[in-house]
Amino acid sequence: MPTFIVFLGPPGVGKGTQARILAERTGLPHISSGDLFREHLKNQTELGQIAQGYVNRGELVPDEVTIAMIRERLRQPDCQAGAILDGFPRTISQAQALDAMLTEFNAQVNLVPYLSAPESVLLERLSGRWTCRAQGHIYHEKNNPPKRPGICDFDGSELYQREDDKSETVLRRIRVYLEQTAPLIEHYRQRSLLVEIDGAQDIEQVTQTFLLALSHLS
Ligand code: ADP
Ligand code: ADP
Repeated sequence: MPTFIVFLGPPGVGKGTQARILAERTGLPHISSGDLFREHLKNQTELGQIAQGYVNRGELVPDEVTIAMIRERLRQPDCQAGAILDGFPRTISQAQALDAMLTEFNAQVNLVPYLSAPESVLLERLSGRWTCRAQGHIYHEKNNPPKRPGICDFDGSELYQREDDKSETVLRRIRVYLEQTAPLIEHYRQRSLLVEIDGAQDIEQVTQTFLLALSHLS
């Protein structure tokens, strides 16, 4: 049976950081909807042009566009053993579409690590986040700095601060999360898939918590 893990939580709580660590440990692909959109924006694809305004304003890209992009990604052969999803689903209708897609592959969502932290922690993390231009590796200027300032440890590419990590857009993204994504907490809790994790802990402690939950799964 393939294994599909969905990281849930507000912007800046550490989903991408943890999803990447888990992907390295399990060999499953890390699928970040935000990274996919940023790749489309960079390459100025048709999808990128549709998504641009929404991403820049900190709003959700319409469900049908997002779902089509993820469906395309999950069809790739590297997802046959499963995947680690980060940033998708973000609405109830995306969650329903994901269930339908996975049923087609004889699979299901197996575990939903839900990270939470006070808003002050999210704001501090987003304002200090630096992202790698080439592959989206994630750093924090204080909590998780690169070895050389401004340069990615893994691929030597330039680090930049995302436009949507600026303060006004960040507040909108947190509001959008509370309105449109937070209902997923209950959705997955009811199905006994949710593992609640204190995302304010340091990176290593968060990793240990969900690895323990994962070990109970198999
Ligand atoms: P998300 O994908 O949920 O938006 P990220 O993984 O990109 O969050 O993390 C946001 C910022 O917080 C990054 O700068 C990252 O280096 C930092 N960070 C992530 N997890 C932790 C943690 N547990 N403690 C301190 N800083 C963290
Ligand atoms: P973060 O983890 O910091 O919240 P992401 O990189 O996941 O940010 O997402 C950046 C932006 O990409 C979102 O603000 C939104 O515009 C768009 N986006 C990403 N995932 C989705 C999704 N599942 N549905 C709709 N829009 C999305």
